[in-house]
Amino acid sequence: MSDRPVHAAYAACPPEPTVHTAHLGATAAEFTPADILGPYWTPGSPARTDFLAEAALGDDAVHLSGTVRDRHGDPLAGVTVDVWQADPAGFYSGGFPDQQGYVGPALGFRGHQVTGADGRYALRTVRPGRYKISDTQERCAHLHFRLTAPAGTRAAVTLVTQLYFPDDPVNAVDPWERKNDPKLLMTRLVDSDQPEAYAFDFVLRTA
Ligand code: FE
Repeated sequence: MSDRPVHAAYAACPPEPTVHTAHLGATAAEFTPADILGPYWTPGSPARTDFLAEAALGDDAVHLSGTVRDRHGDPLAGVTVDVWQADPAGFYSGGFPDQQGYVGPALGFRGHQVTGADGRYALRTVRPGRYKISDTQERCAHLHFRLTAPAGTRAAVTLVTQLYFPDDPVNAVDPWERKNDPKLLMTRLVDSDQPEAYAFDFVLRTA
């Protein structure tokens, strides 16, 4: 792990999520747990479902798909699903000051989409790189999510969380993944026609 970037800003992140109070106090086990926002979210991500334009030739594609559901299990339409992740070397786009040498697009590996009537979302990307948050601590591979359900007949809900890869050995020591294990692990789809495909359904704490 010595060649991984060190993101010291991460070390200042709180041990528990703080930006999604709508989820605090949720007791139903089936709600998707919140996770920390981290220091690298930016507003204004482009509308898109494919990050492969930023990937290097030879990076293996990762396919993730699933459904966003309400507390009753019904698909939720109109949910903005905002995703951001590190590139395969462990750097985030956005010009953050403690990121040494990232030269990708300003909004690389970032994008949002809005669910339709079926509540479905899908993402094509590559596996994010792990990175260090101190000289001794490393973050496992993870995808950041910010899901916002519209106000209306249901109360507006925002869920900030992260998804994890089931085969990453660093999961066991990651300061945040351990708290939610295994509820934020993606499910590997072994019968998919894609070489590396995962599924994850979000359940929002809707009114
Ligand atoms: Fe991160």
